[in-house]
Amino acid sequence: MQFSSKLLEEAVNEFSKLPGIGSKTALRLVLHLLNQKTDEVEHFGTTMIKLRQNIRFCSDCGNISDTPVCEICAHPKRDRSLLCVVEDSRDVMAIENTQQFNGLYHVLNGLISPMEGIGPSDLNIDRLIQRVASGEPVEIILALNPTMEGDTTIFYLYKKLKDFNIKITTIARGISFGGEIEYADEMTLGRSIVTRVVYENTLLK
Ligand SMILES: [Zn+2]
Repeated sequence: MQFSSKLLEEAVNEFSKLPGIGSKTALRLVLHLLNQKTDEVEHFGTTMIKLRQNIRFCSDCGNISDTPVCEICAHPKRDRSLLCVVEDSRDVMAIENTQQFNGLYHVLNGLISPMEGIGPSDLNIDRLIQRVASGEPVEIILALNPTMEGDTTIFYLYKKLKDFNIKITTIARGISFGGEIEYADEMTLGRSIVTRVVYENTLLK
């Protein structure tokens, strides 16, 4: 793409780095911003900077939060005996939307992927073991996507957790999740959490 301005080119390059944004869409977004009032574009910029600088990750569950401990972990009415393990904050939002789960979460911040060089130590797993060892959770729900990485992670966590005195379950399979928990419709996802199954029973003996 030929640009009439270096500034324009730089801005388009930045937008092109975002997932799902090609150079044509990036150009359209930048031209749109150029048509906005200066203070609106400033507000857009400072909102992104504030987000990056001030966002925290809950010290208990690892979820994205404005406070050291997130609203879900701090809520007095949540069932602290249930811990739902998910890949990232998008899954927390998707499961919260179903209104079928009142326990706590644990956000791994990724999945084990030998292909991408992501091992257990790159994920929020040590904190999960600590939480389980505290004796508070009675049941751990492994709500990970049914991909190869998801299954590898579930099996790894199962081996790490099976000797604790807890129940380990997974969200029901056999339902089409559309590949990703965040895309599953609310009823399907809600039902799969309610009808979760004991993980050990799903393993071939
Ligand atoms: Zn939390």
